[in-house]
Formats: sequence, C-alpha cells, structure tokens
Amino acid sequence: MQTNFTLAQLADPDIAESERILRACVHCGFCTATCPTYVLLGDELDSPRGRIYLIKDMLENDRPATPEVVRHVDRCLSCLACMTTCPSGVHYMHLVDHARARIEATYRRPLPDRFLRALLATVLPSPRLFRLSLLAGRLGRPFARLLAAAGFVRLAAMLRLVPARLPAAAGATGRRVFPAVGPRRGRVAILTGCANPVLAPDINAAAVRVLTRHGIEVVAAGEGCCGALAHHLGREHQALAQVRRNVDVWTRELAGEGLDAILITASGCGTTVKDYGFMLRTDAAYAGKAARVAALAQDISEFLAARALDLTPPAPLSVAYHAACSLQHGQKITRQPKDLLANAGFQLREVPEGHLCCGSAGTYNMLQPELADRLLARKVANIERTGAQVIATGNIGCLTQIAGATRIPIVHTVELIDWASGGPTPQALQEIAPDASGARKFATAT
Ligand code: SF4
Ligand code: SF4
Repeated sequence: MQTNFTLAQLADPDIAESERILRACVHCGFCTATCPTYVLLGDELDSPRGRIYLIKDMLENDRPATPEVVRHVDRCLSCLACMTTCPSGVHYMHLVDHARARIEATYRRPLPDRFLRALLATVLPSPRLFRLSLLAGRLGRPFARLLAAAGFVRLAAMLRLVPARLPAAAGATGRRVFPAVGPRRGRVAILTGCANPVLAPDINAAAVRVLTRHGIEVVAAGEGCCGALAHHLGREHQALAQVRRNVDVWTRELAGEGLDAILITASGCGTTVKDYGFMLRTDAAYAGKAARVAALAQDISEFLAARALDLTPPAPLSVAYHAACSLQHGQKITRQPKDLLANAGFQLREVPEGHLCCGSAGTYNMLQPELADRLLARKVANIERTGAQVIATGNIGCLTQIAGATRIPIVHTVELIDWASGGPTPQALQEIAPDASGARKFATAT
C-alpha cells in the first residue's frame, strides 16, 4: 500500500513503525473472511482492511480520531485472526495498538464511556479491587436482565459475567518459591496474573504442581498486572508503567538464581509479555531488559509440550479444545495444547469454526456486549455440536465467557495435564469424574 507520510512524521518511531506495516498491506482482502466482526456485520469498515484504511487516513493526515474511526476500531476484538490469514505478514496488532493509543490521546469519549473505561483500567489489574467488585456484583447479578431491558446493556453484561461461586481469596501474596520435587532440573517464573487468582486460582496451582512434580522450581516473583488491559484500552502510560515494573521484578530474578523461562497460564497476558521488547523498544533504559524478558516468555502449554511428562490417562473423557485467539493467532501456538491433551489420553473433538473468537477478548464482552454475545452464542453452538464432555482452553477470559453459556464443564488445559500426572480431579469435573482419593494436593511454597 502506498503511503504519504512526511519526513517529519516519520521521525516519530510509532509512525515509522505503522508506515512499515501499512506498506506491507496489498489490499487483497483475504483477511476479511476470517474477521469475526466482518463475518457478523458484513461492513468493509468492520474488516481488517477497512480498519487499516481508516487508521492510515487518521495517521497520514495527522487528524484526531473521528467518531467513525473510534466506532470501527472499538469493534475490533484484537483477536488477530487477520494476522493468521494475511499472506503479506501485515502486523495488524501493532497497528491497531497504535490506533488505540492515538484515539485515547485525541478523542473525548462521552462521559459514561470514560467512566467505564477508567473503572475497568483501575479495578481489573488489581486482584483485591477485582475481588471486591465481584462480591458487589453478586448482589446486582439477579437484576442483570432487568437492567438490560432498561437499556443498561454494558452494566448487565458485566453482571452476567460475575460467577455464581467465587473461590476463596488467595492466601499469601508477594514473592513465593515452590521447590522442585526431587532433583532440580530447571527454574521458571510464573506470572500470577490479575484474573486467575481471583476467578480460578486452581489454574496456577495446577501449573505449579505439574512443574514441581517434574523437577522444575517455580517462583511467583511478586510482579503485577502484565499491562494488557490498559494497553488494549489505549492507556499507554499506565500499560508501560506496569510493563516496566514487571521487567524490573523478573530482571532481579534473572540476576539472582536465574530463570529458564517466564511462564504464563493466561494466553491473553502471554501475548503481551512476549511483546514487551517491542513495547519498550524506544526506552533506552529498558529496551534490552524488556527484550530479554520477552524472549523468555512462554505459554504453559508451549513449555510443557517440549518436555517428557509422566502422564497416565485419568479418565477417557472427550474434550473439545477451545483455541483462545491470543494463543492461536497472537502466539501461533496451535499444536502444543492438543498434543498435550492427546498424550494425556483425552479424546480430542475438533470445534468447527475454531478460528473465530468467543467474544471475550479482554474487556470486549463488557464494552461491546451485543457483538460479544453473538460470537459467544455461535462459539457455544459449535462446541456443543462436538458432543464433548469437557471443554479445555488456555485463557481465563475465554473460560469465564464460555462457562456462563453452556452446561459443559470448562477447565484450563493445564488442569487436565495436572490431573493426568497425579494431581486432583479438576473442581469443575468433580461431578463427572469424582476424585477417587478425595484429597486435593497443592504444592507448598517456601
Ligand atoms: S483483530 Fe480480529 S476483529 Fe480485529 S480486524 Fe483482525 S480479525 Fe477483525
Ligand atoms: S490479508 Fe493482509 S495484505 Fe491482504 S488486505 Fe488483509 S491485511 Fe492487507
């Protein structure tokens, strides 16, 4: 695609990067076929190519974001299916991230929008505030339908996502070390995350058990939010502050006893941590450290699939693997979770239209509930068509989104791998496969 930026504009590294991305696009439109919003709405401006044109026009003419640009960029899920499909290697993720920051800097949203986005950016990255908001949300949950009928669609969508049952609050926080069982064969850090400890602490507990059982020492180094939530809301200042904090924490850990990898059990976070090097590329004090951290980042399934695990099939269950967009499109990890599940003896069922987003997409299901609901209904229908007994996925956002719309139990992939390597039956499967021992085994931190 031809571009017309001035030399002065190109002196801005963000513009220079976006120009490079824009020039790679050859307008072929292959990406439109796999874009969920184009599939639903059929509007070129809600396709990757249409958004690329809108962003190009905004950047090239150095214009503030218009309501039209905001509407169509806001509707983008950042699912990155377009990047998987694009034959020209257009890095849409960096382009839309730049556009979101530009919108945040140049467009004044209506007051309710500003309030909601500020609330999400404050509450979600803090497990303590997030937990409190969920407890409060449980009181309002019975009124979700009423609120939706009264026009408070976003509030209703948020209340519908509040789980009926909230796990007990996580005990210890801060830096914790989980020693390897037997001789130590490696040492990794695990990203504790914001949503996992509040909504499903069993996920990280399962990951720690599998790792320590296979001789890997695990450290939860005391990092904070990965920055993805603020980043996707266009709040660059907040996101980069969170990124720098984590880079500092993990760099200290590297300088201490060292790390073989930084493992992430929520693939939405993993996509962002793997991008830390790019996000801080122009920060001379952090660029090198951030690139090192990003190079060590791995999804838990990626790390485990590269190792010889001691797995025994715990039950011949059929499993529909839901590929989170951040894992399949953002990180290009498609084979590893399926290999792990198959090696653990589960019967895998292929989900039709597996490339399409479930509508969760970070805060998308709260900010764009109508589109998110349509995608969710389509996803659940496709999953239920497989007849599987269990759903497995690698991202807490998808897990929460899908759990609210189906009776099929849903777990994180690593909970099944933990089960197959001697751990307890995942909580969500207790009804269909009760834990014979009745004992829940947790790794012990030091
Ligand atoms: S990220 Fe997803 S929703 Fe956004 S343009 Fe690409 S395919 Fe469409
Ligand atoms: S598939 Fe790639 S090159 Fe073709 S229009 Fe989409 S982004 Fe551009």
